[in-house]
Amino acid sequence: MLSLSAAQALSVARVAPPQPRRLPKRCNAVIFIFLNIKGSETAMTHIAILGAGFAALTAVRELRRRKVQADITVIAPRDDLHYLPSSIWIPAGLRSGAGLRLPLARFFARHGVTHLTASVTGMDAARRTVQTDAGPITADHILIATGGRFLRKLPGIDNAIIPCEGLAPAEAIAARFAALTSGTIAIGMATNPAEPGAIRGGPMFEYAFILDTLLRRQGRRDAVRLVFFSPAERPGARLGEKAVDGILAEFARRGIETHLGHKMVRIDPDRVVTEGGEIAADLILFQPGMTGPAWLAQSDLPLSPGGMVQADALCRVEGHPGVWVAGDAGSFPGPDWMPKQAHQADLQAAAAAANIAAELQGRVPGKAFTPELVCIMDTLDSGMLVFRRGKLNLVLPRLKPLHWLKRAFERHYLRAYR
Ligand SMILES: Cc1cc2nc3c(=O)[nH]c(=O)nc-3n(C[C@H](O)[C@H](O)[C@H](O)COP(=O)(O)OP(=O)(O)OC[C@H]3O[C@@H](n4cnc5c(N)ncnc54)[C@H](O)[C@@H]3O)c2cc1C
Repeated sequence: MLSLSAAQALSVARVAPPQPRRLPKRCNAVIFIFLNIKGSETAMTHIAILGAGFAALTAVRELRRRKVQADITVIAPRDDLHYLPSSIWIPAGLRSGAGLRLPLARFFARHGVTHLTASVTGMDAARRTVQTDAGPITADHILIATGGRFLRKLPGIDNAIIPCEGLAPAEAIAARFAALTSGTIAIGMATNPAEPGAIRGGPMFEYAFILDTLLRRQGRRDAVRLVFFSPAERPGARLGEKAVDGILAEFARRGIETHLGHKMVRIDPDRVVTEGGEIAADLILFQPGMTGPAWLAQSDLPLSPGGMVQADALCRVEGHPGVWVAGDAGSFPGPDWMPKQAHQADLQAAAAAANIAAELQGRVPGKAFTPELVCIMDTLDSGMLVFRRGKLNLVLPRLKPLHWLKRAFERHYLRAYR
């Protein structure tokens, strides 16, 4: 069921339902009739997917792969995918902001998806109604996939660039880095004290290593000091002890200084102030802890201590049948190392889609997502691999081919959206 005012409905680009690609039309019709006898999917079934990032788009693909015929509306302010994992290469000129913005119109058309250009502003989860700046939308199933947000509580936070806030910050880092003839670059990260797992450290290690490699290539490493700071004494703990040892050894090998184990006080325009001293700096990159999207404050959704949507292992939002969450917007049960990563977002989205499909087909949903961490920490000239699943914690040392593997993975992953 989709409810939009007439004027708003006009602004929605309706696309024909997906055409069967492998099966002859008659087979699809048989499957469709079968599903409707057996399950609860009807021609009017409507799924609203909030966001158009990793989790949202994976859910679209999985729902269609599972032959879900329902109307799908993707609600997001943009109709392009920003491939942020490769934004670390913008300062080196390996990638550009424009090249990492992938238009989604063809993807939406291929999958028979309606894109509503709108921002979610709140939700009445009990009634499965999403409030947007283009009006309310009611759906039979809602998947929340609007990503996370970085805490901006630290005094002076605007004096730092937060690299993971999007492509624009990566472009700003590139410009400031190119203009820096000498001085200090301070790179740091912290977590959300209310939910220690709400942290994204990998890109900050990558920035430290990549800027070091670049400065050396450009013959100006001696003129620029690099300092890594964090309130944690051993940053990156979720990657595992061996990985942290490897990161700290790599900092030492490259002459990247560390300022660890001191609580943050504030960030001034020219320094980072901690309880354990100050770091004078000309360029400050800082990744604060993560929390849920701002619109959750206008909802009746259950929230975790860190401010994300509380979910179970099947990606269901507790207490709200038909409302699901995947990716950075959610807080999920699992091991304490479970990452806020695109890879994990994809695994959660696939599980949510499988469970929605099961419900529509009259089956009991039972697909739990797999907690898994896969990280190639790039240094521009090589990479380190960390993998975690269950009790397995694999760490590969710095290897040149891992840089190329990360580039090959990007190419492979984005094929679905090109
Ligand atoms: C520099 C960098 C490097 C990274 N490296 C890696 C890596 O190597 N491997 C890895 O797995 N992960 C990596 N990540 C993390 C990864 O990008 C995130 O974990 C992933 O984007 C989370 O996916 P998501 O679908 O939950 O949210 P997002 O991808 O953030 O998508 C959120 C979507 O919601 C939309 N949206 C936001 N607000 C609203 C609203 N109010 N209404 C409607 N729509 C809204 C956004 O426009 C967007 O389309 C990296 C991130 C960064 C920034």
